[in-house]
Amino acid sequence: MAKCWANSLGGCDGISGEHIFSNAIFKAGCSCPTLVEGVKRIRGGDPTRGAEKSNILCRHHNSLLSPLDEVIGQVANFQAEANCESFNGTLLVEGELLERWLLKTVVNVAAAGWMGPFKWQPSDDIVGSIFGLSPVPAQLGLYSVDGVDPNHRPSGGVSFSPLFFLTPAGRILAGVYVTVHGMPLLASFNTELARRLESGEMPDLQTKFSPEGLRHLYHPGAIVMSRQRGKPVHIGLSWGGVLRYADGTTASFPRNAAAVSAT
Ligand SMILES: [Zn+2]
Repeated sequence: MAKCWANSLGGCDGISGEHIFSNAIFKAGCSCPTLVEGVKRIRGGDPTRGAEKSNILCRHHNSLLSPLDEVIGQVANFQAEANCESFNGTLLVEGELLERWLLKTVVNVAAAGWMGPFKWQPSDDIVGSIFGLSPVPAQLGLYSVDGVDPNHRPSGGVSFSPLFFLTPAGRILAGVYVTVHGMPLLASFNTELARRLESGEMPDLQTKFSPEGLRHLYHPGAIVMSRQRGKPVHIGLSWGGVLRYADGTTASFPRNAAAVSAT
């Protein structure tokens, strides 16, 4: 029987075919195909189109998470607009929503059995964090990653690269790199992960995203997107409703204003 991974919250209704990776990513006006890479279940991790839905969430819990799909849709839209050299806008998003989307995506992949031989059910703590009922513990969750996905195609797509620690008890999931149309994010499940990666524990990663080296930033105030043509553009992230700028000033997240502002 298909089971909703949020069933610990109660109130489940009929199971829905949840998109493992938010469909909003692929509707962003980039006319890009639904292309997902790196999930083991599908042809050994080769890029795939289709097979992107799985019976892992009920309709009720799926619909409660639609704000998370909306936020990644805004990001994908912004990335599509930024393909135009003359575009010079800034996108503001709530960091917690992007972080919850990232964690939901990891859980979707794991619960669908796409990460390995087992279908994995998240702990109650993780479910509570994804639904915004409890905060994500400090130093876990979203980190930005300097640079771009080297396998990024102009047509776009998502990639998924799990990172495991080997322990006496076996392999444990320490985190996942998820890239959205080339923009890498790290979902960390271990407070030591970013430091250990930066110290060179996985040599292949040192210059994977940037020739300047591997660098992560926990709960960044902004993600800088470099472009092939045109100046870099920024996605500003608020944390606790506060936007923090590089010059040290702060501002409240404009909840009722349009999220994209042209400058
Ligand atoms: Zn449910």
